[in-house]
Amino acid sequence: MKGLTNVRIYDFHKYEKRGYVLFTDTIIESGPMEAFGEARKKHALADGDIMDGKGRLLTPGLVLGHTHIYSTFARGMALPFNPEDFQQILEQLWWKMDGSLDREQTYWSGMCSALGYMKHGVTTVIDHHASGKDIKGTLAELKRSVVTESGLRGMFCFETSDRFDIPSCIEENMSFFDEEAQGVCSAHFGMHASMTLSDDTLKKISGRLGGRPIHIHVAESAMDGEDSRRKYGTGIIKRLDKFGLLTPDSLIVHGIFLEEEEMDILAERKCSMVLNPLSNMNNGVGFPDYPALKKHGIKCFIGNDGLGTAVANEWQALLFGTHYKYGDPRVFDLGDLHTMIVNSYEYASRRLGIKLGRIEKDYAADMILIDETNFTPMNENNALGHLVFGSAFALRPSHTWCRGELKLAEYEHTFPTDNIYEKSREASSRLWKDLGAPL
Ligand SMILES: [Zn+2]
Repeated sequence: MKGLTNVRIYDFHKYEKRGYVLFTDTIIESGPMEAFGEARKKHALADGDIMDGKGRLLTPGLVLGHTHIYSTFARGMALPFNPEDFQQILEQLWWKMDGSLDREQTYWSGMCSALGYMKHGVTTVIDHHASGKDIKGTLAELKRSVVTESGLRGMFCFETSDRFDIPSCIEENMSFFDEEAQGVCSAHFGMHASMTLSDDTLKKISGRLGGRPIHIHVAESAMDGEDSRRKYGTGIIKRLDKFGLLTPDSLIVHGIFLEEEEMDILAERKCSMVLNPLSNMNNGVGFPDYPALKKHGIKCFIGNDGLGTAVANEWQALLFGTHYKYGDPRVFDLGDLHTMIVNSYEYASRRLGIKLGRIEKDYAADMILIDETNFTPMNENNALGHLVFGSAFALRPSHTWCRGELKLAEYEHTFPTDNIYEKSREASSRLWKDLGAPL
């Protein structure tokens, strides 16, 4: 058992001005420093097992609601790029790239992404994977890199798309449900988007799904809905629903262009929505309409769509961007953001079968320590404001624990990383060469 003392604790539910935590892979107890002496005696903690948090802020590790680890090796890659619309962004960059990825590159993408998550305080990752050269076994590579070897928690699926061999996509998704591991790894059935999935494919998926949750991009650009109405005479949500694909806990990603009736269906089917504001801004496709999603009772949380390995910057983007979109700062407040953060913990807890998101007894010991000193009064009512308008500008915890293990200490990984970066450079160079990108 380990102990952490002299920390300000904020877990999106309560604030402790000067507290302690005792933990293994699970939190054993937490409380005010006044009670620490007694607790230490009770558990016979040795000096070497106790770390002084020096007044830093302790919060639960963060959940990244939607990402693409496959995009890791796009950093700095220069391919000819002159897209006229969203379809061309996919064709000129992402589909070229994911179409060329193999198992080994997938593994190293996972390894160096995991290093980034630790640095940014993310301890649970929900990934949406695609790799064209190898489909079979790639989800197991992600699990191996992110969960088994890096010690984080993850949910993985393969983006079924008519661009790929459909039976292979279906088999990869279905067989990965057998790889689910209580508390650390779970699966979705992955689908790219309505516009890359024929009715024939949806029917095949429907026949195998058996009530499992899907993970799909929906209405990321206006084109997705237009495509569905033109080809199938109905909007995306009704189309998916017709095939029985909107199962409980399904992740609907983006949802920028949805009609009121479609939002009602999503709420009724108990699907969750993941918003990725910076990616939407980057692609120039539009911006999420959180007030509308909230009005229709859809549970939302936040992802980054593969744009880096952080999530706290996306909190800010959604807050500021929604104010900008509406021309009114009252339409989205810290209470809304709080709801979304709590939603992410509740979702991940349910899917993984573990308690995440609080610093208290029986919750997982996924924690981050943030070296941000408050110079204005801090209490349980304004702690989130301190986090969002202080640390979130570049949230880099000094320490990250996942499953009770210290992954980052004083901003440094607690294990050698040179080999991971070196192998990743080799794997990405091979990818770039295949794509004809200048090295
Ligand atoms: Zn995405």
